[in-house]
Amino acid sequence: MQDFTIIKNIRIITGIDDMAIENGAMIIMNRDRIEEDRILYCGSAPEDDSAYLKLLPPGTSENDITVMDLSEGSFTLLPGLINTHVHLDLDLPYLSYKADPWGDAYRTLVVYRRAAEALMCGVTALRGVGIVGECELAVRKAFENEMLFGPRIISCGSPLSPTGGHGWLVPGTIVCDGKDEFIRGVRSQIAQGADQIKLLYTGGLAGAYEGTYDIQMTAEEIAACLEVAHRNGKKVTAHLSNDRAIREAVELGIDCVEHAYSLSEATAERMAKKGVYYSATLCVSHSNDYMRRLGVPDYTLKKQEEAAKGHLESCRRAAAAGVKICTGTDLLPSDPIDGTNATVREAELLVEDAGLSPMEAIIAATRNGAELLGIDDVTGTLESGKSGDFIIVEGKPDEKIRDLRNLRLVSRGCRLVWSSLPVMDRNNYRITAPGIELGGGVFKKW
Ligand SMILES: [Zn+2]
Repeated sequence: MQDFTIIKNIRIITGIDDMAIENGAMIIMNRDRIEEDRILYCGSAPEDDSAYLKLLPPGTSENDITVMDLSEGSFTLLPGLINTHVHLDLDLPYLSYKADPWGDAYRTLVVYRRAAEALMCGVTALRGVGIVGECELAVRKAFENEMLFGPRIISCGSPLSPTGGHGWLVPGTIVCDGKDEFIRGVRSQIAQGADQIKLLYTGGLAGAYEGTYDIQMTAEEIAACLEVAHRNGKKVTAHLSNDRAIREAVELGIDCVEHAYSLSEATAERMAKKGVYYSATLCVSHSNDYMRRLGVPDYTLKKQEEAAKGHLESCRRAAAAGVKICTGTDLLPSDPIDGTNATVREAELLVEDAGLSPMEAIIAATRNGAELLGIDDVTGTLESGKSGDFIIVEGKPDEKIRDLRNLRLVSRGCRLVWSSLPVMDRNNYRITAPGIELGGGVFKKW
C-alpha cells in the first residue's frame, strides 16, 4: 500500500446531488500509511493521467500512489450505508418479561461482535436507539480510541419508558414515571455520554399487553425530556406508532420519529415543515417469516401483519410530503432478510413498496442518516475533506436498487475493511475480527 489510492474509471454517487458521475475518480489517503483519514478528491475523472498528480500534495511521486482501475466491469462507488435504528443487543424472540441472557460484561462483547458484522455488510455508521447503555458506550469508546475497529456509533444509551410502557421490561430500559423521573433519566444518559435521547412514547408490536394506538407517556413528560435534552444540545427521538402521538410529539419539538405505523398526510406535512426526520424501519413489519423462524410470539406476528399496510402508506405519505427519510431496520444491520441483509432490504423496501426512487433510497441510507446522526460534517457524502467511509458495489444501484446486494468493497475512515474486487492484489483482505463472514453473518444469540 502506498500513501494515496486513486480509484478510477468508476461510476460515483457522491450523495451531494441526485446525479451519478458516469466517469468518476476518487483519491484517498491510505490510513495505514498516513495518520489522516480524508478524501482528497472525489468527482469527474481528470482529462488525462498526468492531471491526477496535480490533485496530490506537491512532491508526491508515482511510487506513492496505488491505482485501482475499475474499467473492467461495471462498478459504482457510494458513501457507506448508515443504519439509523439498531439495537445491538437485540434478543429475539421478543418476550414480555425481564430476561437477560448475557449480563453486561458479556453483552459488551456481543455488541462489539454485531457492530463488526454491520461494518462487514457495508454499514459504516449506525445509531443505537436503546440498549443497556453502558455496553454500547464502551464499544463506541473502544472504536473511537481505535482499540478495536468498527463502524461509527451514535448512541442513545439506555431508552426511557414509563411503567408498563413499550420495552419497559427489556434489560437496559430506565423506567420513569412523571416528569421529574424522566428529567433525571435524560440527565443520567447525558452524563454517561449518550449522543441522543430515546423515548418510548407509544405502544408497539413487541409487548403482549400494548397496542400501537396506546400513548404511554404524557405530553408533560415528553415536553420535560425535550427541554432538558435540547438545552444540552441533544436530539430526541421516540418510538412513535400512531398519528395522534406523532402529531403531539412533532408539535412539542421531537427531532425524529421512529416507525410511524400510522401517519396522516397533515402530520407528515408538519414533519416536513419542521425538519423532523423519519426512521421508517419497514423491515420490522416486513420480516414475518424471519421472525416466525426465530420463535417470535404469535401476538407480535399478528400485530406485525396488521401494521404492515398502514406502515407502508405512512412511509409513502412521508415521502410525498418531503419528510427526510432514513433507513433504520430495528433488526441487526446484517440480519438476513429476503436474500440480503436487513440494511439493504430496508433501502429496497423504500423503493419497491414505498415508492421512493432508487437514488432517493440511497440518499436516505447515506446523507439523511448522517444528518440525523449529526455526523454529516465528516461522512454521509463523498467530497474532498470528508472521511473515507465508502462502499463499492457491482452494477448501478441508483438505477436498480437491488444492485446494493452486490457489495465488493468496504472502507471505513480510509481503511480497507474487505474487498473482493478483481483488481485488488489481496482479495478478501480484512482488518475486522477473525471469524466474521464478509457479508456480516446471521442472527445469533451468542
Ligand atoms: Zn427499536
